[in-house]
Amino acid sequence: MDTMYRLKCVGCGTEYPADEIIYHCPKCGHLLAVRYPLDAIQVEKATWAKRPLSVWRYRELLPVIIEPVTLQEGGTPLYHLKKIGEELGLPHLYAKHEGMNPSGSFKDRGMTVGVSMALQLNKRSVACASTGNTSASLAVYAAKAGIPAVVLLPAGKVAVGKVAQALMHGARVISIRGNFDRALEMVHELCLSHGLYLLNSINPYRLEGQKTIGFEAIDQLGGVPDRFVLPVGNAGNISAVYKGLLELQDLEFIDRLPMMTGIQAAGSMPVVRAIRENLPEVVPEDHPETVATAIRIGAPVNAEKALVAIRKTGGLAESVTDAEILAMQRDLARKEGIGVEPASAASVAGIRKLAESGAIDRSEKIVCVVTGHLLKDPDTVIRQCEPPTEIDADLPSLLAALRL
Ligand SMILES: *Cc1c(COP(=O)(O)O)cnc(C)c1O
Ligand SMILES: [Zn+2]
Repeated sequence: MDTMYRLKCVGCGTEYPADEIIYHCPKCGHLLAVRYPLDAIQVEKATWAKRPLSVWRYRELLPVIIEPVTLQEGGTPLYHLKKIGEELGLPHLYAKHEGMNPSGSFKDRGMTVGVSMALQLNKRSVACASTGNTSASLAVYAAKAGIPAVVLLPAGKVAVGKVAQALMHGARVISIRGNFDRALEMVHELCLSHGLYLLNSINPYRLEGQKTIGFEAIDQLGGVPDRFVLPVGNAGNISAVYKGLLELQDLEFIDRLPMMTGIQAAGSMPVVRAIRENLPEVVPEDHPETVATAIRIGAPVNAEKALVAIRKTGGLAESVTDAEILAMQRDLARKEGIGVEPASAASVAGIRKLAESGAIDRSEKIVCVVTGHLLKDPDTVIRQCEPPTEIDADLPSLLAALRL
């Protein structure tokens, strides 16, 4: 394969050819990242500006050289959170609504690139472990590519909308009696022994697609925000956005970096603990628990990269309780008209907490990534709301019910 980029170990720095199918450095075991010769890349900001806002606007900084497997992912709205911002005294608070992607989460940005790379690397089957959205997205893109997908889910811990998607789009869906962290170990072994292409966020190519969240937000704002806020599960997304911003800086498209800020659920917060206690690496949690199932992860595989992103940019890490997450899910829905799943509300709930505790400057321009759509997890929504009022089918009953 004739490509300019290579895979580089984030631990020891050893470089490998781009078509070597490895997920960890054979020498030291750390993860790999895609490294482009940025001085040789021919790209102008003006060229990007002419293309539609989408993952593929930025294709010179993506690894795919074949015709991509795409469903028009990215190009998601950036909303000004006017009312919530006013309440918090944050006049420049924005939400990038990644629930508006084809399968309803940002995972589509990774999968359009990841599944395209599977074909580019001559792989003909794909697999992942998932708390839900990765499996939904993989099923969608494998269907589009016409190749089989295997997904492993933690039994009983995946929101119903996500399972429905994985099933309907035709993936082989396996529920394991264990948590996400165990599912990932198992699928990793399966991929190494049976040649399936692994598309969890240890896959360096998948993260390349996800970095475009940052590119788009900067294009939409017309400049670099002061702070990027993301919910953190496996910590792939926050690491991906940071990597992309470093590349923009190397290309001299931007002249400073935003403070990368990660939010976790109080029942599952190894990254927050590592930042708070200034630990060199995260200590995994054995029994992560939270209503925000998309970030119910005790051993985040990209934690090492996320710690660098947060520390190098002077960012923050904060945790929020399930009650705080659900309260913000409701506020986003009722005050802003933005419907997101619980994990997504964690980013804005985290900002509420940081603003109220005085940890951030209120004049900051802040972009919260809200990661997945409300309809992903209808059960959690129904549990929080009053059921519909059922009445006889006549007007007096209607007026009585409405108290008119
Ligand atoms: C995957 C996911 C996350 C967590 O992203 P990581 O890259 O694992 O940190 C957050 N929210 C939603 C909705 C997700 O699907
Ligand atoms: Zn290494």
